[in-house]
Amino acid sequence: MAEELVILSGKGGTGKTSVVGSLAALAENKIMVDCDVDAADLHLIVGGDIEQEHEFIAGSKAFIDVDQCTACNTCVAYCNFDAIKYEDDADTRFGVRFWVDQYSCEGCGVCRYFCPDQAIEFNPVVSGRWFISRTRLGTLIHARLGIAEGNSGKLVSVLRKTAQSMAESEGKSLIITDGPPGIGCPAIATITGADYVLIVTEPSQSALHDMDRTIQLISNFSIPTGVCINKFDINIELTEEIENHLKEKGIPVLARIPFDPLITKAQIAGKPFVEFTDNDTSRSLKSLWNRLREELYSAQSGQVLLKAVNHLKQK
Ligand code: SF4
Ligand code: SF4
Repeated sequence: MAEELVILSGKGGTGKTSVVGSLAALAENKIMVDCDVDAADLHLIVGGDIEQEHEFIAGSKAFIDVDQCTACNTCVAYCNFDAIKYEDDADTRFGVRFWVDQYSCEGCGVCRYFCPDQAIEFNPVVSGRWFISRTRLGTLIHARLGIAEGNSGKLVSVLRKTAQSMAESEGKSLIITDGPPGIGCPAIATITGADYVLIVTEPSQSALHDMDRTIQLISNFSIPTGVCINKFDINIELTEEIENHLKEKGIPVLARIPFDPLITKAQIAGKPFVEFTDNDTSRSLKSLWNRLREELYSAQSGQVLLKAVNHLKQK
């Protein structure tokens, strides 16, 4: 199996995707995955053309057959999600049209169970789309979830599974995954089974708070973790505070990346920063990649050692 490096930020606005874009440009023999399915933007940096497009069907939702419906109101009373609506409609048999609000329906099936006239059907619903793109930096797997759709964790799992099988068929040894913000279901679906997590943070109190929540989440999965402090020079005092804080937790700081107004220009140009210019920022991104390679190597060695110990224990 290919090793998977996941990059998380805990909150938006830390410059995570820009860091991911540069790591993707520096790494060889890899596949890229954008698991931020609510706001995917890695493709804006690494470019490419969509080669395959797939529907994401997460489940079914209720639909009311107006011709069968006797307007008894039973389903409205039983729906806990307030998803069934009705309005006067002279064109229907009973002068009232009942329908299901697809954004509110959770597909629980209670309405169908209690409908006395078998007027409720279930149809699969397309909740989003996912794509395989060919970019000059390699294969990118990404997605777009429909507006107000849940199930982002399920979609993330589809993307990661696809990435593993594509890495195997293309003979790639590394998967670079741009993770979603927050610590909810999509973040959990992104880190489960990953080999290493890099957290991108910045020196602000809110980023420090979000970084801590992310570390707490990752600690439940025992995944080796490192941190890079982006825009470290906007508040040196807080950067040092974050570094001391991480030292106490035993988490390495792999890089300090300076604030650089050229980052926005690189994004507008649709280029990973390390390809856009050669300066202190691009050099710090390169040194981040070198540290990550060492960390991935030692995480891999640790896994091999652990497997060997478990194997000996079983004997
Ligand atoms: S399936 Fe559940 S959520 Fe959807 S309309 Fe029926 S009762 Fe409401
Ligand atoms: S329970 Fe069935 S028949 Fe009654 S209003 Fe709902 S859909 Fe119509």
